[in-house]
Amino acid sequence: MSAPRILIFLGPPGSGKGTQAKMMAERLGLPHISLGDLLREEVKKDSPIGRRAKESMNAGKLVPDELTIELTRQRISRPDCRPGFIIDGFPRSAAQAEALDRMLAEKKLDLEAVVYFRVSEEETVKRLLGRAQLEGRADDNIESIRTRFEVYEKTTSPLIDHYRSLGKLAEIDAARSIEAISRDLARL
Ligand code: AMP
Repeated sequence: MSAPRILIFLGPPGSGKGTQAKMMAERLGLPHISLGDLLREEVKKDSPIGRRAKESMNAGKLVPDELTIELTRQRISRPDCRPGFIIDGFPRSAAQAEALDRMLAEKKLDLEAVVYFRVSEEETVKRLLGRAQLEGRADDNIESIRTRFEVYEKTTSPLIDHYRSLGKLAEIDAARSIEAISRDLARL
């Protein structure tokens, strides 16, 4: 059996990483794990995790690390993740990255690559405001979008250098069309 393929998709809000992660997961026959989706499900169920997460999510802030780490731990332990998985929206902080490293080490799994979606804030804000009208997500308003960018810059973007120094980073120019980006990803 070939080694499990474990890919992380990293980038600012609105960079298109979710869309691409979903498409690539389908193409490779791997589960797509979106922490945002998992959290939104918890909110919908009104579970204890959902109740703790809701307020931070609506404000565009990160929910506490322990919640996302626990959700990730449970999700990647499910049998469908044995051939590998594509994870998007996690890790988003140094503590989450360390936790993921530990989880993978415990399972004797190697991270294949971190795909970094490089795109300007101006472009992504435009996309997010468009999505707000289409999907009506509670956190796609200008205030929450600004906060999500600040959080991304301060807490998440340092992970780019971290994974680059480990030789795991694959950069994608995400300012282009969905088709152009997915062609690049297919060559990965
Ligand atoms: P997303 O769908 O990836 O844009 O995530 C939506 C919201 O869920 C974020 O703005 C955060 O409030 C929360 N969230 C998603 N992933 C994480 C994470 N790894 N750590 C903390 N909060 C997260």
